[in-house]
Amino acid sequence: MTEHSNPSKVVVLGGGYAGTLAANRLRTRADVDITLVNPRPEFVERIRLHQFVARTGTATLDYGTLLGKGVHLVVDTATRIDTAGRTVRLASGRTLDYDYLVYAVGSTSATPAAVPGAAELALSVAEFESARRLRARLEEVPRDAPVTVVGGGLTGIETAAELAERGRRVTLVCGRTLAPSLGAPVRGQVADPARCHRARGRRGDRGPAGCRRPCRRFRRRCDASERADRLGGGVRRAGAGGGERAAHRRPRPAAHRRDADQPR
Ligand SMILES: Cc1cc2nc3c(=O)[nH]c(=O)nc-3n(C[C@H](O)[C@H](O)[C@H](O)COP(=O)(O)OP(=O)(O)OC[C@H]3O[C@@H](n4cnc5c(N)ncnc54)[C@H](O)[C@@H]3O)c2cc1C
Repeated sequence: MTEHSNPSKVVVLGGGYAGTLAANRLRTRADVDITLVNPRPEFVERIRLHQFVARTGTATLDYGTLLGKGVHLVVDTATRIDTAGRTVRLASGRTLDYDYLVYAVGSTSATPAAVPGAAELALSVAEFESARRLRARLEEVPRDAPVTVVGGGLTGIETAAELAERGRRVTLVCGRTLAPSLGAPVRGQVADPARCHRARGRRGDRGPAGCRRPCRRFRRRCDASERADRLGGGVRRAGAGGGERAAHRRPRPAAHRRDADQPR
């Protein structure tokens, strides 16, 4: 590879999946100088945070094992981008010049203000720092303390299933539809009925033992899944309607999530 005397400066903001891949991919060019800015000295595998919380896996990796030679890591947080001047201000007060900027800061989770108490009491699984607090909190409470997971999207389902697999008593609270981002056929795969559970539904409060009728389909899936029996009694879904379903095992990632879930 030819060394360029005046390489273009590329600053990548955010060392998640996107930023790390971008920085490494840019190394195929000889005419760039690559700086990756990330607030933590370790790569956080967000897709493993529910496992980190449940203590069934880790969620951090040393950048040294991920970043190719020539990518400069700056542990800091971008606070301001000056596009006219082509500079990035960092929380430490340092300023980086750039010719090209890759903006890959990911997403953050917002605690809905509409839910009273959520901001003060709930702990999010979506970011490393809050996941670490949640993990510590779970260690403090008795093993059989009830755990409520709010949110019936894929992250909520995965978290509830992971905790149930560790023997926690988990209730998953969601809206009318479990895993709404999935199409109906896939949704059926993710959330087979394990046990009917009527929460405060249209017909009044029936309590968690409102219906104990096991589902034929669940039994069939238990036959096929070695872990289903352990999860079957562990996770209940509480929602708005009656005749609800339980997520009884860790769902297979849906098609659009599969790429990120593969080992790298
Ligand atoms: C529990 C859980 C399970 C998931 N499972 C799956 C799954 O199975 N499949 C799937 O496809 N997706 C999954 N996701 C979603 C997936 O994690 C995100 O889509 C993915 O992390 C996005 O990658 P990213 O690189 O854009 O952002 P991120 O991974 O969020 O990385 C962004 C990085 O930028 C850093 N950053 C933020 N602000 C700044 C700043 N100002 N300056 C510098 N750096 C900054 C952050 O600290 C972070 O390191 C899951 C998410 C969670 C929470």
